[in-house]
Amino acid sequence: MGIIKKYYDNILFFQFEQFNNKNVRHLFTSKVGWENNEFDKLAKLFNVPKSNILCLTQVHGTDILIVDESIINNIGDFPIEGDGLVTNIPNLVLTTYHADCVPLYFYDYDKKVIGLAHAGWKGTYKNIGGKMIHLMNNRYGSNIDNILVGIGPSIGPCCYEIGRDLAHQFTNKYENYNHIIIERDNKVYLDLWKVNYLQIRDKGVKDRNIIVTKICTSCHNDKFYSYRKEKGTKHRMIAAIGLISNLEGKDEH
Ligand SMILES: [Zn+2]
Repeated sequence: MGIIKKYYDNILFFQFEQFNNKNVRHLFTSKVGWENNEFDKLAKLFNVPKSNILCLTQVHGTDILIVDESIINNIGDFPIEGDGLVTNIPNLVLTTYHADCVPLYFYDYDKKVIGLAHAGWKGTYKNIGGKMIHLMNNRYGSNIDNILVGIGPSIGPCCYEIGRDLAHQFTNKYENYNHIIIERDNKVYLDLWKVNYLQIRDKGVKDRNIIVTKICTSCHNDKFYSYRKEKGTKHRMIAAIGLISNLEGKDEH
């Protein structure tokens, strides 16, 4: 069980095997086949109108937008600033944008609540993942035991070199977390996957419910855009998730 690679009309995307069931659709895009009309492609894959795809103006913070009826009724307010989205409303597609930053996917399969977050080093440092779990529990009554979390493709400890000052900030704040900073050839690297994993586990999510992709976007620059590897890029991969109801099971009234 882990990440799976799929092609649809020569479009390459990735999914977490554990997230695939009849109540939820999700994916992480790639460099392959997504150059133009990304929203058209998403709308088709999720089987929703383009207006049902929601995105934020990402600011490397920890604000998570609760997408409820009042938000939907004021859809003209989008894009709203923030780095996470959460909802229990079906047929919407939540999206975040990434080129090395960590995509975090959340799914409560009992209460049917989904969340998505963008975690670069700042969002990770400020624990946006933990905040999401807290919000799902508080606002939607999610039982921690029923939450699945997927940590998607992003820059790995193999490539994410950081300054010593930042390394100290992380080891000071997360002194109980082992091996989040790796020293190699007199350079220091941060393991964003591990920090996010430990933050989520600290919130009580079961180990087997946390999927860590461990695919580095910088090492796999043939399939992914990488801000570091490409020394800046305007392109992004899209993380997307939606509670898309099962057409076959739809009630007739
Ligand atoms: Zn790498």
